[in-house]
Parts: sequence; structure tokens; C-alpha cells
Amino acid sequence: SYIVIGATGQLGSLTVDSLLARGIAPNQVVAAGRNTEKLAKFAERGIRTQRIDLSERSSLEGLFSAEDTVLLISGSEIGQRVAQHGNAIDAAKAAGVQRIVYTSAPKASTSALVVAPEHKATEELIAASGLPATILRNGWYSENYVPAVEQARETGTLLTSAGEGRVSSASRRDYADAAAIVLTDASTTGRVYELSGDYAWNQQELAEAISTAVGSDVAVAQVSPEEHHSALVSAGVDESTAGFLVALDGNTRDGLLSDTSGDLSALIGRPTTPLLDGLREAVSV
Ligand code: NDP
Repeated sequence: SYIVIGATGQLGSLTVDSLLARGIAPNQVVAAGRNTEKLAKFAERGIRTQRIDLSERSSLEGLFSAEDTVLLISGSEIGQRVAQHGNAIDAAKAAGVQRIVYTSAPKASTSALVVAPEHKATEELIAASGLPATILRNGWYSENYVPAVEQARETGTLLTSAGEGRVSSASRRDYADAAAIVLTDASTTGRVYELSGDYAWNQQELAEAISTAVGSDVAVAQVSPEEHHSALVSAGVDESTAGFLVALDGNTRDGLLSDTSGDLSALIGRPTTPLLDGLREAVSV
């Protein structure tokens, strides 16, 4: 079976959809996550489910068996993820699963990206487990800019400290298709994919895409990291989130999110979703 850890999340649910669209039977998929309402929705579709919390090792009991291929979607609780992922990797190792597929971050082993250390540590745990593995170093989601769309809709401004940094974003659906393809193709074992959108856009192009999506003018306001931080806090964002967002713009400015390897479109056999299309789809739902 295909065990999808994080199936209750946005990327995970799209990955389950993509597995089914590729002809995998619902009873060959196990959706795992915490949200019991979302798990119940999967069960209604004939998909097997298990309620897990990656922080509780006992909740992983019985989840894996030796025939399984596992998708470990990185968790969302920053700071706790290495221990959480480690619990899943230990349990998968104990069951002797066929393969583990992990959603990592661009160039996780060497990148200065603020989110890279937990992904690097997880990749190392997977390597140390000796399990056959495929690493999907997912680039940025276009959907990350939905809050920027909402803000620009209200203020007419795209506030950024990313300077001339470019972002090679793709839609979650693109990454989900890649995950489903890799899960169902054992020949990808041992590979590390650097996945990203085909094109790296700059802030001016982001503003233009938002402007088209919302149907009104959007101007780019380039500010310093300090100004960006205070503007976010004044707008009600808490200090630590503001620090994180400003650090990500710094990473963007430094070009850490701009690589276009072409791995993603090659894997999914089609161009990645353009920024405008990704934003339009995300804001219309
Ligand atoms: P979501 O927040 O929608 O989904 C996260 C998933 O992880 C959910 O299924 C959630 O379960 C599950 N999860 C988190 N913590 C635990 C836990 N302790 N035990 C069990 N399950 C847990 O994120 P996305 O689908 O948008 O993205 C997937 C992952 O990609 C994120 O978790 C994050 O690591 C990373 N990410 C990447 C981005 C990028 O641009 N590349 C941007 C944002 C995130 P439940 O909902 O049931 O609690």
C-alpha cells in the first residue's frame, strides 16, 4: 500500500487525488494525519485511514508493513519536526517498508534557507536508517503568496524586502503529481530531485500577476528588512511570524529560492503551472 503521512494537509490530499487518478485503488492508499474529520472524508471514498500524531510514537503502531511505500510529508510544527519525522522513520524502518519518499527543501543539505536545517537533519535520519528512499526537495509553492494577494487587494501594494530575488514557484498540484509519480515508480529509488517551477519570477512580476488576478493596480513597495518587520507587526502579525517572513524574504533576496532545474516538469511530463494560474486557482476557492 501507499501510506501518505500528512494526507489531511493540502499537499497530501492532492497527492492522494493524484494517486487515485493514476489508477491506484482507494484501498491501496492509507491516509494518515491528525484531523479526524478529514480522515473520515477519505474513509467515505474507500481510502484506508489511520489517525496519527507524529509526536506520539504509539500512534504509529500498525501503520506500516513490509509491502508499503511511504510518503512522509514534512510536518508543519517548526522546531519539532526532526523528532516527529524521526518517529516515522524509526517505525518505517522497524516494519521494513519498501521505500520512503520525503518532501524536503531546495538544496537542503547545503542551503542557508531558514527552513533547511530540519530538512537536512531529516534527510540524514533517512540515510542513516538504510531504507530505500527518494527525496523530493520541493521548491516554493505559488500558494504561499495568497496572503500577499489578499493584502494587495486591500492596500494596492505588494510590500516586500526580497529586492531583486527571484522565486521559481510551482503549484501544490504540480508537487503532488510529482509525489504520486515517484511513489508509484520504484525506479526513482535513490534519487534526490530538486523540484521547482520552470520560471523564476521577480517581485514586479508577482505584483503584475496579483494585479491581473484581482483586477486592480498593484504597486511593489520595496522596504528594508527592518521596515518590513515593523510593518508586519503593525498589521497584527506576531513577532516570531514576522521574523520568519522577513527571513524568508532575505533568503529570496539571496537567490535561495530561484533555481530552475527542470526536474519537476520533467517528472510530471508537462510544464509547471504558471504563477498567475496558480494564484487564480488558489484565490478562487
Ligand atoms: P498543511 O499544513 O496543509 O499540511 C500539513 C500536514 O502535516 C497535515 O496533514 C498535518 O496533519 C500534518 N502534520 C503536521 N504535524 C503533524 C503531527 N504532529 N502528526 C501528524 N501529522 C502532522 O501543509 P501543506 O500541505 O501546504 O504543505 C506540506 C508541508 O510542506 C508542510 O507541512 C511543510 O512542511 C511544507 N511546506 C512547504 C512550503 C513550500 O513552499 N515548499 C510552504 C509551506 C509548508 P493535520 O492537518 O491532520 O493536523
